[in-house]
This record gives sequence, structure tokens and C-alpha cells, in this order.
Amino acid sequence: MSRKVYLDNAATTGTDPEVLETLLPYFNEYFGNPSSIYSFAGKNRKAVEYAREQVARVLNAEVSEIFFTSGGTEADNWALKGAAFKQGEKRGHIITTAIEHHAILHSAEFLEKTGYKVTYLPVNDKGMVSAAQVEQAMTPETFLVSVMFANNEIGTIQPVRKIASLCRSKGVLFHTDAVQAVGHVPIDVKEMGMDMLSLSAHKFRGPKGVGVLFIRKGVRIENLLHGGAQEKGRRATTENVPGIVGLGKAIELASQKMEKESARQSELRDMLIKGLGEKIPEAVLNGAEGTQRLPNNVNMSFIGVEGETLLLDLDAAGISASTGSACSSGSLDPSHVLMAIGLDHEHAHGSLRMTLGDTTTRDDIDYVIETLPGIISRRRQMSPLWEKHISGTKEV
Ligand code: PLP
Repeated sequence: MSRKVYLDNAATTGTDPEVLETLLPYFNEYFGNPSSIYSFAGKNRKAVEYAREQVARVLNAEVSEIFFTSGGTEADNWALKGAAFKQGEKRGHIITTAIEHHAILHSAEFLEKTGYKVTYLPVNDKGMVSAAQVEQAMTPETFLVSVMFANNEIGTIQPVRKIASLCRSKGVLFHTDAVQAVGHVPIDVKEMGMDMLSLSAHKFRGPKGVGVLFIRKGVRIENLLHGGAQEKGRRATTENVPGIVGLGKAIELASQKMEKESARQSELRDMLIKGLGEKIPEAVLNGAEGTQRLPNNVNMSFIGVEGETLLLDLDAAGISASTGSACSSGSLDPSHVLMAIGLDHEHAHGSLRMTLGDTTTRDDIDYVIETLPGIISRRRQMSPLWEKHISGTKEV
């Protein structure tokens, strides 16, 4: 059997077998509608409420502050549009960053079209924003700041605690997209002063299509989905019971394993960065280092090669990874995140993201360190860009 190494855990993770076992009976055995009043459906209501307790416990939130959604995208849309629509006619000003996920950026752009003002803060070369930048951008009209907890492409962890505390002191709502952070780094919404937080189950070995928006008690936002009285009348539609049960179990397991896993993955991450850095000339790490980077994220640029070509070569060697050059979306523009940290087009186009998970082994990392340098060297030999780059370097 040929070797398979999955290094795209930021895109999605495989459902944990224990999670799968917990959620499966809710498809057929216990299929009742949680809103029905007979005892058969009571099991489903209880399961949904138990999952809510599991999430609340991990985040240190109140049970009443957890609202299930269809995933991270819906949670992000709800936070931004819900807060914005509550403003009514007066509209107002939102602050976010240039490196957010499109679920935030496209929601913000939509709101701009309907009369809201939005500031997209630039980041430094590691992908970081500061509380001082947020403070400077605030105007009397600012009602919401949304800064992601950790970036999905380069893994940079933002100073969200400081930003949350600034927002609290100014009476401005603070939302964080913690989709890539939950299950990987400790999060305490009370202690960190979050008003809203988005998460998504499939990023921490739960099922796809289910997430959460944490809304702190007392925070008023409009609803997005109108219909039945589910989620205390805040989000209509029959609950995705198997998904919610799976999310609850997955967040519990992830939090139990987190300390050990994040230490183990950080070590493998640093081994991979070091190994590739030593074997591949002019390899560049994108994003921050050490504790300011997600334990599972490696993002590197290799000038003179195309990210897409690398993915195909890696795929042929059994390695699944990802790139930030965004040609898959039909655009030739490189990733907005890599451009925001100041990469030139050549480095942005030659970028590769490898994201580890709890099934990643030391052998997997060794295999990538053995395989990738050869692929890059062969591709560079055929690359006019590399040729030009090398002769340019020699002339200097
Ligand atoms: N936000 C971030 C930072 C993400 O990485 C993702 C998914 O890649 C999302 C939001 C969207 O989450 P979902 O796939 O659950 O809609």
C-alpha cells in the first residue's frame, strides 16, 4: 500500500471514532424532533442540552450563551450582521482585519454595500494586529470589532485578550472567529472578555456542518434565521441533533487532549519547519513563531515553484496539503493573507500550508522532510523564475 499522509487539518479533520459512535444513533434510533413533546423525543432534547453543557464547560461560558449554528460561516455571518442590523438606521462603523476568513470579510463587504463603514486593519509581517491599532481606528460610531483568534493560513495567534479588554473599556462589542483555535489553544470566554465567539466542529474532529456562536449574556444582536422557536427563538430550524451531539463530544475530547496534543504537535511542527528549512535553499516561514503560532500550522514559501504544482507532486507521493495561491477559486490572485503580510507574488505563489492533527505521527513528518526537498529541487530545475532568481542573486 502506498503511503498516505494527511496534512490538511486546517481544512478539515476526520471525525473521531468515539465522536462518530456517540452521534450515529441520533440518525435512526433516536430520530425524534427535540421540539416534540412525547417522551421518545425527550431523549433528543436532552442530548442537545447536554452538548450545550459540554461546549459551555470547555469555553467557561453559561449554557444559555451557547447557540448552535450550521458551522463557522454562519456563526461569523450572524455575529457581524446580527450586531449590524441591531444598529438600525444609524448604521455605524466596524473594525476588522485584512486577514480574516472570507466568512468575515465578505460579510463586512456586504454590510459596506448597505451603508456601514468598515476598517480593515493591516497586519505586520507576521500577520499580527495590535490593540493600539484597534484603538486608533475607533470612532464614536464604532459598535463592533471582529478580530480572528488564529489565522487559518499562517496560524498567527492574535492578542485577542488585549483587544477584548480595550473594547470592553470603550463599550464596543468584540467578536472573535476562533474556528482554528478551539481545541488547539486554551480559551476562556469569561476571563478573556469575549462578547461573541465562533467555532466549527469539523476543525476539531467533530462532524461537518455544525458550529456555535457564543453570545455573552446581555449582548443584543438580531437573528438571521426567522421561523420556529428553536434555540430560544434565536435561530429557527429543526436542530441538527447528530451534528450537535458530535460537536459536544468532540469539543470535550479535544479539550481533554489539548495540553498533551498541542505540545506534541508544536514539537512536530518545529521539526518540520527546521527540517525543510535546512534541506531546501531559500525556504521562508510565513507567520509567527513559537507560542504565537498555532501548534499545528506550517506555512512556507519556496520561490521558483508554483504552489499548485507542488500540491500535485505531493499528492502523487501520498501527501495531502494545501496552498495559499487561490487559483482553485478561479482567481490568479494570491491569498489575501500572504499579500497582507507583505509577500511578493513569487513567494505567495510558491506557498504551501501543512497542518497537523492528532493522527499525525513523527514518521509522517520524516516522510515529508525526505520527500518535499526532492520535489522542489526538480521543479526548480525546470523553472525560469528560479533561474532568473538565482542569476539575480549571483549578480548582486
Ligand atoms: N473561519 C475560519 C478561520 C476558518 O478557517 C473557517 C473554515 O475554514 C471558517 C471560518 C468557516 O467554517 P465552516 O467551514 O464551518 O463554515
